[in-house]
Amino acid sequence: MTEIGRAAGAALAERPVSDGTGPSEADWAAAVAAVRDLTPDSRVLLICHVNPDGDALGSMLGFAFGLRRLGVRHLQTTFPGPPEVPEPLRGLPGLDLLVPADEAWLDPDLVICFDAASASRLGTLAGRLDRVGTTTVVLDHHASNTRFGGINVIDPAAAATSVVAEELLARLGVPLDAEIAECLYVALATDTGSFRFAMTTPAVHEMAARLLATGIRPGEISRRIFDTRPFGAIRLYGDVLSRVQLAPDAACGLGLVWTYATLDDLTRHGQRPYVLEPLIDSVRCAAEADVSCVVKQIAEDEWAVSMRSKGGVDVSQVAVVLGGGGHRFAAGFTGRGSATEVVDAIRDELDRAVVPTEDQR
Ligand code: AMP
Ligand code: MN
Ligand code: MN
Repeated sequence: MTEIGRAAGAALAERPVSDGTGPSEADWAAAVAAVRDLTPDSRVLLICHVNPDGDALGSMLGFAFGLRRLGVRHLQTTFPGPPEVPEPLRGLPGLDLLVPADEAWLDPDLVICFDAASASRLGTLAGRLDRVGTTTVVLDHHASNTRFGGINVIDPAAAATSVVAEELLARLGVPLDAEIAECLYVALATDTGSFRFAMTTPAVHEMAARLLATGIRPGEISRRIFDTRPFGAIRLYGDVLSRVQLAPDAACGLGLVWTYATLDDLTRHGQRPYVLEPLIDSVRCAAEADVSCVVKQIAEDEWAVSMRSKGGVDVSQVAVVLGGGGHRFAAGFTGRGSATEVVDAIRDELDRAVVPTEDQR
């Protein structure tokens, strides 16, 4: 083992062991071997989910830097759909490694997928996993993950895919540096809601400490990622929030608060769709509702739905039934019809999904 490898091994010994629902030692070993088996000529394609968020892009780019440090020369990172990185993520290091989906190699030797619970989240790139001769590794933290890779390293207890990525880099003997750390930090901060959500365990803060120890600047990163919007986006938020509705009877009385945004709203204010992502955080504040959702138009009869729960409902169940996925308290799907029809479908499923507590029975 190299000096680097020994140092990484020492750090690993202090990590909490998986609680049993996470990856087995055999899964980790297979993922490590997939990287170790690469030759200087090998081509590695990294893919994250459509409409990438901070965790998708951050874990993928952070891992890409790690592969670079290991001497991997032929490396592409990509995601399906328009090759547009949301403005708040345009300060991430490593964006020069991104290629549009239609330029991604058709026959890579190794494919590694990040933060995608199912192959459908990879859109047109899902086909890259089917080729004979291509090794496929899935790194993820969604409980609903369909284990669509040849090698699956899935930890539903992890707060972000970047937690899994950091562990794999450590097992590969790659020391953290500022570029890797910034990517993984953005991913971790995004998926924990800036270290506020329930998954923010001591291990999450320990990982954040390791990342910050490389010298990255959390104040600057947070301002860029969370606290910078175009003026037009703020006007747009005003319009969308002014039509928020409360349905106290929904979800067997736990309550639903919801709103919608149309393509016309975006056009009127000259904004791109990703500016709508933070809106769910304002809507979910309503004290009167356990469940919240924002229904965002993506085509004439097509809506991207974000759902959140404060704990009374497992919204991933609702999302899975409606064709999507996610986590217990944060999930999504693509809805069809009008905004009202999409919300009606959610309300129907919510009534089925809620398990009434003692005093509601
Ligand atoms: P969002 O509301 O977009 O922040 O997504 C919340 C969670 O739901 C994330 O973990 C996503 O991966 C998941 N999710 C959102 N949209 C979909 C979809 N169309 N299909 C599967 N999972 C989704
Ligand atoms: Mn994601
Ligand atoms: Mn994630």
